[in-house]
Amino acid sequence: MAYEHISAPATGDKITFSNGSMNVPDNPILLFIEGDGIGYDIMTASKRIWDAAVDKAYGGSKAVSWMEVYAGEKAAGVYGGNYMPEETFDAFREYKVGIKGPLTTPVGGGFRSLNVTLRQVLDLYSCVRPVRWFSGVPSPLRHPEDVDVVIFRENTEDTYAGIEFESGSEENKKLADFLKNELGATNFFPDAGLGIKPISPFGSKRLIRAAIQYAIERRRSSVTLVHKGNIQKFTEGAFQKWGYELAREEFPQETISWDEVADKHDGRVPDGKILIQDTIADIMFQKMLLRPREHDVIATTNLNGDYLSDALAAEVGGVGIAPGANIGDEIALFEATHGTAPKYTNKDMVNPGSLLFSGVMMLEHLNWFEAAELITKAYEKTIEQRCVTYDFARQMENATKVATSEFATRIIENMDIV
Ligand code: NAP
Repeated sequence: MAYEHISAPATGDKITFSNGSMNVPDNPILLFIEGDGIGYDIMTASKRIWDAAVDKAYGGSKAVSWMEVYAGEKAAGVYGGNYMPEETFDAFREYKVGIKGPLTTPVGGGFRSLNVTLRQVLDLYSCVRPVRWFSGVPSPLRHPEDVDVVIFRENTEDTYAGIEFESGSEENKKLADFLKNELGATNFFPDAGLGIKPISPFGSKRLIRAAIQYAIERRRSSVTLVHKGNIQKFTEGAFQKWGYELAREEFPQETISWDEVADKHDGRVPDGKILIQDTIADIMFQKMLLRPREHDVIATTNLNGDYLSDALAAEVGGVGIAPGANIGDEIALFEATHGTAPKYTNKDMVNPGSLLFSGVMMLEHLNWFEAAELITKAYEKTIEQRCVTYDFARQMENATKVATSEFATRIIENMDIV
């Protein structure tokens, strides 16, 4: 496909799909969106680390060909004020896999978050956030090593559907009249702002399916459905019901429900089975503080997942190092989970961890596990040497504070000794 402002690299091949399976060439073309604010610093540092790891892990037989595509302020410069050019979406449809830095959401009328737009236009319905602790990283928990979960948050329904009607608007009045007069729903005050929370079997099941498939592929022990079904029975409660239904119908060999474990197996999960369990959203926060080992993969609706992802990230070092991905049927977009931290722009100061580990997820997605593991080990070694960026330095004793670029250099050097 011909692009106006995007140039394909001189070498490299496309990632393709056949019968639902991904084919990854040895020299895949991967897309990157640099991001605004601190985007340049963390993308530059992380690309050096990813490339070095791939080179060391495969002795030159594999390599990434990077292709820059645009969104945010850089896009506005290249495309004459357009923050979200159509050809960025086209490039993702063609090349399938990429990674992005944080993007500014310009404040002001009617501008939707670029992150939300990317997820919705490309139908990236699973927001995947692994949360685990790396040795040496400052944490408020006494046993942060017990936290090792992967959150699958639904990315297209619930609050993200954005169906809201402003207090006082014509539409709001019409909907209020309809609710009162046609449906007998009277339990709200006059002029209340109104929002609709759609949660469908299709949207819920594809997200829960992705979570169970992940649990099977990565040999995880359980999938917890997190919901608020005690209060919202036909949305949150239905999510839970559809989850159990899906596991029973599509994964009867691989999974077992909590009820079945209690009734037929004396409360013990049979070997090789993945436990499907569920919990109410509010108590999940307590459980993840007090007994985090009881949960492994988590599948949840949009708003619950939003709160849970950031709260759990705080248990193991904060959003500065929490990685994330937005994944659809074929397209996968990995991303830093923090914002653009504008006051640190071009200061070569911030922690590249969130973007770096999103790239580690991307390498795992390509089945390049050796390169991914090399980065994780070299990162742990670097933290163990107490060589860290400013954000960790202020929480650690006897730490050496280094710039983003120096931190990257140290990680690359440590790849030789791990
Ligand atoms: P933010 O950019 O995440 O920054 C808030 C604070 O978090 C920073 O001041 C810094 O804390 C810390 N921080 C963030 N990234 C860090 C890193 N890599 N290393 C170390 N510390 C880091 O949140 P914000 O200030 O609310 O949002 C700024 C802009 O980002 C807004 O335009 C918002 O719309 C956008 N945003 C984008 C995304 C995204 O693209 N996914 C996500 C959230 C927000 P200290 O100052 O305490 O050191």
